[in-house]
Amino acid sequence: RTVYVNGEYLPETEASVSIFDRGFLFADAVYEVTSVLGGKLIDFDGHAVRLERSLNELGIESPISKEDLLEVHRNLVKENGIDEGLVYLQISRGADSDRDFVFPDTDKVKPTVVLFTQNKPGLAETVKPIKVISVEDIRWGRRDIKTVQLLYPSMGKMMAKAAGADDAWLVEDGFVTEGTSNNAYIVKGGKIITRALSNDILHGITRAAVLRFAREAQMEVEERNFTIEEAQEADEAFFTSASAFVMPVVEIDGVQLGDGQPGPVMTRLREIYLEESLKKAE
Ligand code: PLP
Repeated sequence: RTVYVNGEYLPETEASVSIFDRGFLFADAVYEVTSVLGGKLIDFDGHAVRLERSLNELGIESPISKEDLLEVHRNLVKENGIDEGLVYLQISRGADSDRDFVFPDTDKVKPTVVLFTQNKPGLAETVKPIKVISVEDIRWGRRDIKTVQLLYPSMGKMMAKAAGADDAWLVEDGFVTEGTSNNAYIVKGGKIITRALSNDILHGITRAAVLRFAREAQMEVEERNFTIEEAQEADEAFFTSASAFVMPVVEIDGVQLGDGQPGPVMTRLREIYLEESLKKAE
C-alpha cells in the first residue's frame, strides 16, 4: 500500500512520524474518513469543510489546500486500486522538539499530514443488522470536533463485543448522544428522529446528507433527544456514518425492535443516500 506523509508518497513500511508528534503524545490531531465507491470519493467536499472547522476550533493552521487534499485522495485511490473502500486522513499539530503541554509556535512546528487507504470490497452491498448496548457517554465536551481521542469509543465497542453485541450507543443525562462512531436515529410512525446538532455530538457528514434527502423525499424529520426506552419501542432504529452509510439497528440492550429485520424507512434512506451520493461522487 502506498501512503502519504507530509508531501511524500511512500510504501507503508517506509512511512514514519516522530515520537514527539503531538498526535501521538496528546491526541492533538483531527481526522476524516471518506468512503470510496466505484473508485470515486463520496461527499469529499463535506469532509473537507468539516476538517477545516475542526482545525480552526483547535487553532491548527491548515497545512494543505482543499484542492491539494482532493488530489492526494485521488492519487492514493488510484495508486492502491481502490474500487470500494475508505481514505483515512489525519492532521496533527505536528512534532515538537520535546514533550510540552503548551502548544508549540506555529512558525517552528508544522502540522503532520498522513493519509492512507483501506480496501473494503462489497462496502455498498453490506447491510448488517446491528445489535447495540447502551453505555454511559463519558467523553469530553467538544465531540463536534473530530479529534483522534478515540479511546472511550474504542472501549465502548469492546464492551459491546463482550456483551455479544456489535456497537454501543452512548447515553448522557438519560438521552442517547450518538454511537461510538456514528449518528443514531429512531423511526416512529414514519417520522425520523435524531438528536439535534450541538457540541455533544459529531456533526456527521452522512447525517447532513441523509436528513437532506429525507426532507426532499417529503419524509418527516424531527431533531430532538430520545431515550433508550423510547428507542426500544420505536418501529425502527438505524445509524449513519461515512464508512457504513445507513445501517439498521435491530436490537437495543437485548430488546428486539419490531420483527428484528431492517425496516422500510432505513432501507429507503440507504437506497436514496447511495444513489444521490454516487451522482456527485468525485
Ligand atoms: N459520530 C461519531 C462519534 C463518529 O466518530 C462518526 C464517524 O466517524 C460519526 C458520528 C458519523 O460521521 P460521518 O457521517 O461524518 O462519518
